[in-house]
Amino acid sequence: MPVVSSLELVPRVLAGEVRAVARLITRAEAAAPDCRPALDEIFRHCGRAHLVGITGVPGSGKSTLVARLVAAVRRSGRRVGVVAIDPSSPFSGGAILGDRIRMGEVVADPGVYVRSMATRGALGGLAHAALDAADVLDAAGYEIILIETVGVGQDEVDIARAAHTVIVVSAPGLGDDIQAIKAGILEIADVHVVSKCDRPDANRTVTDLKNMLAMSMGPSPPSGGPWQVPVVPTSAARDEGTSSLADAIDRHWAFLRDSGEIHDRRRQINERRLLRAGEDILRAWFAQQRDERARQLFDELQARTLSPHQAAEQLLQDLRKENGP
Ligand code: GDP
Repeated sequence: MPVVSSLELVPRVLAGEVRAVARLITRAEAAAPDCRPALDEIFRHCGRAHLVGITGVPGSGKSTLVARLVAAVRRSGRRVGVVAIDPSSPFSGGAILGDRIRMGEVVADPGVYVRSMATRGALGGLAHAALDAADVLDAAGYEIILIETVGVGQDEVDIARAAHTVIVVSAPGLGDDIQAIKAGILEIADVHVVSKCDRPDANRTVTDLKNMLAMSMGPSPPSGGPWQVPVVPTSAARDEGTSSLADAIDRHWAFLRDSGEIHDRRRQINERRLLRAGEDILRAWFAQQRDERARQLFDELQARTLSPHQAAEQLLQDLRKENGP
């Protein structure tokens, strides 16, 4: 059977064919040599979906919440894509909350596409693969795309920040402090969630978080002003708060579009993606150079006749020469 090229998959992705979506994402994840032009073409067809990043420390209840959220969004009839980058994610087949919700329930729904990606081993490639997957889902017509990441590590934070709406999940009982502060992700939230609100200690987490936000943001702006970050308590165990969260996500999307802030947000996201793509290209090129030119530069570094900065400048000069007129 002839192998279908990645470019041939593009029209099928645009027509929403799930098998083509899955295949192109697999190739993107594996960085297959022929998938770049296909992904470039896919990018031209993106821009309709609402990208929602969900992040929080491990154990904060993200995966369980995402399962509930998918169900809530589906009730509005929209198609949902999920990209889960979390080693503990039950999307890889486990059961959530004992046996009460199984991801299988949502996955059996043709309006839902779930893709989980391995976290480790693909340093640098992970953000790329996740955002490529989100692009493919966007082009395939999924209206909301949830990207779930463990909010530790720069890569994961970058993935969350590539979303239009960032949700930071905090849970009670994971220590005295708000975990988002420790993880450095408090300020990236458009919506805060306090999960596991069936637990008696949850109120304290809600209060602490609200106080923290009030301190960091100063007095509330007048209505009609900038977005006010809400704190939404949820309990996946009791299925409470998920509809409020879905509402908050929709309100944020409406706010971005009504205020015109969506343009700034898209620009920031594209700038970050451009920088990252540039870094990836440089890194790949540098890796190729390691045996030849770089060895000589390493020797100079070792002898301290060049500083790392000077050596990097020299490598870049080589690159310019290589690609010059
Ligand atoms: P993640 O690592 O952030 O994805 O967190 P999980 O969704 O895997 O949840 C971590 C643990 O918290 C699991 O043992 C869940 O069963 C539990 N959990 C998740 N949501 C709730 C909830 O609403 N209430 C309670 N009591 N436990 C929850």
